[in-house]
Amino acid sequence: MAFSTSLGYPRIGKNREFKKAIESFWKKTITPEQFLKDLETIHTSNIFQHARTGIDFIPIGDFSAYDLMLETALMLGVVPARFQSLNGWDRYYAMARGTQETTACEMKKWFDSNYHYIMPEIEAGFSLTQNRLTLLYTWARSKFPDKNFRTVLIGPYTFLKLSRIKNKKTLIENLADIAPVYQKIIAELSQTDCPWLQMDEPSLCGDVTQEELKAVVQTYATLAAQKKDLKIILQTYFGDVADIYETLFALPVDGLGLDLVRGEKNRAAIHKHGVPKDKWIGLGVVDGRNIWRSALREPLDILKELTLNIDPSRVFIHPSCSLLHLPVSLQGEDKMAAPLKKRLAFANERLEEVATLTHGFNKGGASIIAALKANDALWTDKDFEGLAFNTETQKRSLGLKPEDFKRTKSFKERLPLQQKSLGLPILPTTTIGSFPQTEEIRKIRARWKKGEIPQTEYDQFIEKEIQKVVQLQEEIGLDVLVHGEPERTDMVEYFAQKMNGFAFTQNGWVQSYGTRCIRPPIIFGDVSRTEPMTVKESKLAQSFTKKPMKGMLTGPVTLVNWSFPRSDVSKETSALQIALALRDEVSDLEKAGIHVIQIDEPALREGLPLKKDDWKNYLQWAVSAFKLSSSGVADTTQIHTHMCYSEFADILESIAALDADALSIEDSRSFGRLAAELAEMHYQNGIGPGVYDVHSEKIPPESEFMERIKFLTANIPLHQLWINPDCGLKTRGYKEVVPALKNMLAAVKEVRKTLEGK
Ligand code: GLN
Ligand code: ZN
Repeated sequence: MAFSTSLGYPRIGKNREFKKAIESFWKKTITPEQFLKDLETIHTSNIFQHARTGIDFIPIGDFSAYDLMLETALMLGVVPARFQSLNGWDRYYAMARGTQETTACEMKKWFDSNYHYIMPEIEAGFSLTQNRLTLLYTWARSKFPDKNFRTVLIGPYTFLKLSRIKNKKTLIENLADIAPVYQKIIAELSQTDCPWLQMDEPSLCGDVTQEELKAVVQTYATLAAQKKDLKIILQTYFGDVADIYETLFALPVDGLGLDLVRGEKNRAAIHKHGVPKDKWIGLGVVDGRNIWRSALREPLDILKELTLNIDPSRVFIHPSCSLLHLPVSLQGEDKMAAPLKKRLAFANERLEEVATLTHGFNKGGASIIAALKANDALWTDKDFEGLAFNTETQKRSLGLKPEDFKRTKSFKERLPLQQKSLGLPILPTTTIGSFPQTEEIRKIRARWKKGEIPQTEYDQFIEKEIQKVVQLQEEIGLDVLVHGEPERTDMVEYFAQKMNGFAFTQNGWVQSYGTRCIRPPIIFGDVSRTEPMTVKESKLAQSFTKKPMKGMLTGPVTLVNWSFPRSDVSKETSALQIALALRDEVSDLEKAGIHVIQIDEPALREGLPLKKDDWKNYLQWAVSAFKLSSSGVADTTQIHTHMCYSEFADILESIAALDADALSIEDSRSFGRLAAELAEMHYQNGIGPGVYDVHSEKIPPESEFMERIKFLTANIPLHQLWINPDCGLKTRGYKEVVPALKNMLAAVKEVRKTLEGK
């Protein structure tokens, strides 16, 4: 008899009750007692959902009032000095969000997902503050006395790998220091009747050095020393652990949990090495990261095949990772096309799959025959095919030739042509695209969406807004202008809504960070564009100025990485289809008189796989998709791109391969590093290392801009250099943006004078 379990569950509640509770608590519109009660209600209903579905072991400890890494840091006494005067929730939320006096801990992407965690800062050592696992377990046990639970804890290796280490010790030294604290947590948990502890170690699916692996072995020996009857399963996900499989099974823990969706090599490892007789195995056979229903027979067959020589009573069946990454429930999605909805599984539907599969595995396929038959019918549904497939797009993708991915001339040859036709000065200035999304814009958009104001009125409002933004830029004296993006809420949603092949949910929220949730679009079929998507706004904006207007598009890689991708074709296939649609858009913009076009790729870097070996393949298709979207233009048309990260030394080659005429990139926080790296690597094309940190409220004085610009001119060849902020201005207000840009321009003009004098 195998057991079903889930590795974790969304914490946001069915209708984002999480957001409401926490934000009300912040605003002090509910009492702390009410806040705790509201969180407890969500937590209880999450457990109840597992129980109702018939999941044998329910996860406990994955729930959190913000983020699990933050909870873990607090439990381990990892509190930076600047927060030590604070206590309780004040400390908790100060670390997450900062206060007037203290900057928050950094927020980082959770592996290659769109979830962000709060990055622990290790300034000193570790000590157990309060054992949240025993508390939570005891609570859950008293509420659900007849249920079985698996407590969930982020393991020490992953915890440290994802932390910022500032105590001058190595990762390995810190592992040795942290092990006794974990030992204590586990010893205390073993005093309860909790049967299982799930130690999450997704970092083991990345590149683990020999030295680190040795330290992991030692750490686990220490922490398991006093576990007594408590069983520990080492849980991995987001990739495979094939290379270290035997070492992990030899650890003094009771089992190993594997991701069989993204960790393809795990399957071969199980075949090759088997499972030690006294150990358990966890098989993550359904997708915890994507929203497509499983073709049930496949995981069922895989389960049978993998467990031929394994004692089935030592098997856990579960999703490939925590369900945190899925919306809660399909219920209530009544606007979605029926053939599509039938194919989807959010968290609750995924739990049902796990329960069904476990039943089928234990009692034989015949016992779930109705479910299997219903599932079979999904994959031959003609209605879905009619909705999803587009032979035109497929044909075009198949017909692609190498020259479709290349500009006709090199950057060196293009540059003088562009300089001439665009008439740009040295140190040309521009912005990243968006201007402040004011209260007024948001209000009018909301009313328009509700149908309270007619389309024509809304259109007029947007037109005025564009005109205002163009005039403002003229006044400030920028060289390449933008229209300001007032018509866009979200850079992905805006384009996805205009292309075929994307679908949207009404309530498909997923936690992005803290109380912020996003509703990623679903790529469900072949992508195509029916009509121009941005030409109207760009053309209008150009009509207000003689300066070059920059068209603004979201790139194919970002559109794929910030959506739920298809499961029947690769991300590459979708990215190329999107790139073709964008290529048409670029060409329409060109025809409409727009000769500078920016294609944003802020999500390119975060799509990098966990293992470096897999980077090459990803970067190859990512670069190809970008080039396909951008290379169909005249030599005189200037292609820009923008990326929002400064750590890019390790992918610089790919960034260069994009062959954009100008690249604007976030550099204001890591000031100096980027310029040095670039000079070293002989990056040839245009580059605009952001000189103004738009994420800060601060308005840099002219002198600060001067200093930065001078530094850049000393390190980067003049003909390559652009001057711009480091990201879009949409989250800022005009009262910050206008003086900041004016200071930027004043500084540029000063520097230009000194350069012309030479
Ligand atoms: N063009 C977008 C803007 O300016 C880019 C956003 C981003 O970098 N994430 O808002
Ligand atoms: Zn950006």
